[in-house]
Amino acid sequence: MAYKISNQCIACGTCMGVCQAMAISAAAGKYEIDPKKCRNCNLCASICPIGAIAKDKPAPAKAA
Ligand code: SF4
Ligand code: SF4
Repeated sequence: MAYKISNQCIACGTCMGVCQAMAISAAAGKYEIDPKKCRNCNLCASICPIGAIAKDKPAPAKAA
C-alpha cells in the first residue's frame, strides 16, 4: 500500500523535497503521491507539519 495525502494538505511542499522516489507532485490545491512510485519509506509522513500523509487503506472488499 502506497502512502496517500489527505485533503488537509496545505501545499507547503515539504514532503516533495524529501521523497527520494520522486513520487510526490504538486496538484490542484494539494500535493499527490503516485502510488506506482511510492516505496513506502514513511519519510514524507514523518515530516509533514500537519500530519496529512498516511498509509492508504485498502479498498473495502466488495460484497459478494
Ligand atoms: S512514503 Fe517515501 S516513497 Fe512514498 S511518497 Fe512518502 S517519501 Fe515518497
Ligand atoms: S508536507 Fe504535508 S502539508 Fe506539506 S505539501 Fe506535503 S502533504 Fe501537504
